[in-house]
Amino acid sequence: MGIEVNWFVNSDCNLTCGYCFRERDIEERGTSEMIKLANYMADEGVDRVTIGGGEPLLREDLEQILLVLKERGVFVSLHTNGTILKDRIEGLVGLVDILSLPIDSVDERQNRLMRSRPYVNLIREIIEYSIPLGFKIAFKTTATSVNRDGILGIYDLIKDVDPVYWKVYQFRPLNRGKREISLFSLSDEEFRKLRGELDTLKEPWINVIDRIQGHQPYIFLDNMGGISTIDPVVEENIPVGLGYNPRISIARDYIQALHGGSKYLPEVTRAYGRFLSPNSWVTYSEQDTHGLNDALRVINLVYGASDPTRFMRDLFSGLSSLVKGKITIRIATANNPQDLLDENCF
Ligand code: SF4
Repeated sequence: MGIEVNWFVNSDCNLTCGYCFRERDIEERGTSEMIKLANYMADEGVDRVTIGGGEPLLREDLEQILLVLKERGVFVSLHTNGTILKDRIEGLVGLVDILSLPIDSVDERQNRLMRSRPYVNLIREIIEYSIPLGFKIAFKTTATSVNRDGILGIYDLIKDVDPVYWKVYQFRPLNRGKREISLFSLSDEEFRKLRGELDTLKEPWINVIDRIQGHQPYIFLDNMGGISTIDPVVEENIPVGLGYNPRISIARDYIQALHGGSKYLPEVTRAYGRFLSPNSWVTYSEQDTHGLNDALRVINLVYGASDPTRFMRDLFSGLSSLVKGKITIRIATANNPQDLLDENCF
């Protein structure tokens, strides 16, 4: 199985969604370096790339980057807020396999509260101009206490376009998203009810993802070789280093579990236990199972990075020999890793 990468190509956005967990104003990598990275990914067996941001279409060179991926046979999903898509859509033909769009409600008051603008007509318009051009469309919804009642109606808006998927996520106060936790939090009980309502639609393309399922086995990777992973206890991405911070133990533990196979992938409760027990890393590493040494080799390589793109390539190379199932790597395209680590970005 190949490697899937979630590549955050910028941090700027033209919207101000209240629940957004992205950091802003992170310096962007230039076109030539992005193209180099795209080629490295393809060289190392990455076969699926999800482009995200910020708003990726704010990058004027996006088509050039996508062209490299497509020429190398990579499957490309573009996650865009859709607001500036129209002028670029023709140029994206052949460069994007799936257009993934957000829609949080059929109630525009709720959309304004959540996404800072109305959305229903925007989605209708995008459907109208992109389907005839051959694009496949997917949708994502963040379920919060604000839009709880406006979600089911989305079905009528999107069902006729034969969506690739409609993912409905329970709001998670990740990183910057914590600022509005009291406004957006949706209880597990309410989310279960919503899941029940969506299940009655019996559509295989509807995927309901609660906050625990939302903790996918993923790694964030920044351009300078810094790795962080989600800490499900504190709902933040934390840097993975070499043992100087007790919090890092759990991140390393988590990462080695990712590399070791799903059998050892901790659930949130298990991860919490490991978080409280920094020595568990040592115990686990002594077992030397599941390619752990290889995983450590990869992490050490990345941490020794002086040339980020070279070490990115080494990372992919290491991962492709290690990963038994699907693993998602998220890459933030920023110039200063310290910004990312200090602010717990993404
Ligand atoms: S959620 Fe997406 S569209 Fe909204 S502000 Fe954040 S990056 Fe922009």
